[in-house]
Amino acid sequence: MVLTTVGSIHDGERYRLKDREKALVFQELATNGPCSRKSIAERTGIRPTTVSRAVKELIEDRFVTSTATVEGERPGRPEVMLRIESNRLVAVSMYVQARELRTALINLGEQTICEHVAPLSPHTDNTGFLKACSDSFRSVLPCVPPRSEMLGIALSLVGTVAAGNNTWISAARWRNIRALDFGLLSRRLELPVTINRMQDAELQYLVQKNPAYHDKNVLFLHWGFGIGASYAHGGVVMGSTIGRFCEIGHTRLSIEHGKACQCGAVGCLETEAALWAIRQEIADHIKGSLTDERELGRTMSTMDIADHPAIDRATRHVMLALLNLHQVFYPDVIVIAGPFTENQAVFQRLCAFLRSELPDYARDQVEVLAVTGGFHGSVRGSVYRFFRSRLKGTLTLNGSPN
Ligand SMILES: [Zn+2]
Repeated sequence: MVLTTVGSIHDGERYRLKDREKALVFQELATNGPCSRKSIAERTGIRPTTVSRAVKELIEDRFVTSTATVEGERPGRPEVMLRIESNRLVAVSMYVQARELRTALINLGEQTICEHVAPLSPHTDNTGFLKACSDSFRSVLPCVPPRSEMLGIALSLVGTVAAGNNTWISAARWRNIRALDFGLLSRRLELPVTINRMQDAELQYLVQKNPAYHDKNVLFLHWGFGIGASYAHGGVVMGSTIGRFCEIGHTRLSIEHGKACQCGAVGCLETEAALWAIRQEIADHIKGSLTDERELGRTMSTMDIADHPAIDRATRHVMLALLNLHQVFYPDVIVIAGPFTENQAVFQRLCAFLRSELPDYARDQVEVLAVTGGFHGSVRGSVYRFFRSRLKGTLTLNGSPN
């Protein structure tokens, strides 16, 4: 998450070289640690005195600890091994999955320390959702390691999410939630709280993990309980002022007729292809949970599902939607997540359709891949900003040479 790219935390044109060097020392420790001051200097090319100053400050700030002393190359010159203190910073990531609120305590090293799951009834309203957030937060608090610094709570949500003013406008899954202001939660828990759309956090994570995506245009499509997408242009996840973007699931298939959608409109793509819409039709065929996308993905990956009438119909709708999305954005990379595309036959059908329909000049220019395990990056992608802004202050070199 943060650690492996922290060397570029002082980005842009204006940064002090010594701050960049401190960040690189930290990154080296995060990537190749435990290691000694000497090996950091050798591998980064940073002067040993600067490495020592940076390490001294990081130890004082409790971001780095020394582990063992090993014999150096020359007798009588032992070297101290250093490692990152991953539990120095923690943040809470909350996200919704089907009708559950899931809460994970994440540390600086990208590890999930503990998780909590709270069911949410379809009738949950603003008060009920905020209470579930507070209760979930309190239930993971006992797992916070001693001397950890809690940075805040990031929520990954579905529906219309106005991240700019921290307001969850609406979600088809919980019709009683309207204009929920998370400033209330922030004041109640006395912690920073930020919100974002789940697929934006997932894409943020993918971009973060793949430096090559910083120079590319990436389309992320989620086909699961609902259908949504997000888009990153040159490494920046796009959004709108009203909190919706790339809402392919609620584009209309027909204006004359169609089925009622959860969003209140008629004839949306979701009514033909989302899991919520075809769940009843496939229930007899699929063994196991139809609400847990991760479990369902595992199930679907091993089953013969591509020719099931409802899945075949859904696939044909999604392939058309994907083609249309491609025509709008012309992405270099398309990443698809969700249980359906964990099935190879379904995924290959989508790919084959794209290949056959795209014009020659575009056909070989787009990479399409399916990721497994559902939304997993968003859990970390959403709290990334907390760690980054906290580390930016820490990774400036203060001390004078000693
Ligand atoms: Zn709709």
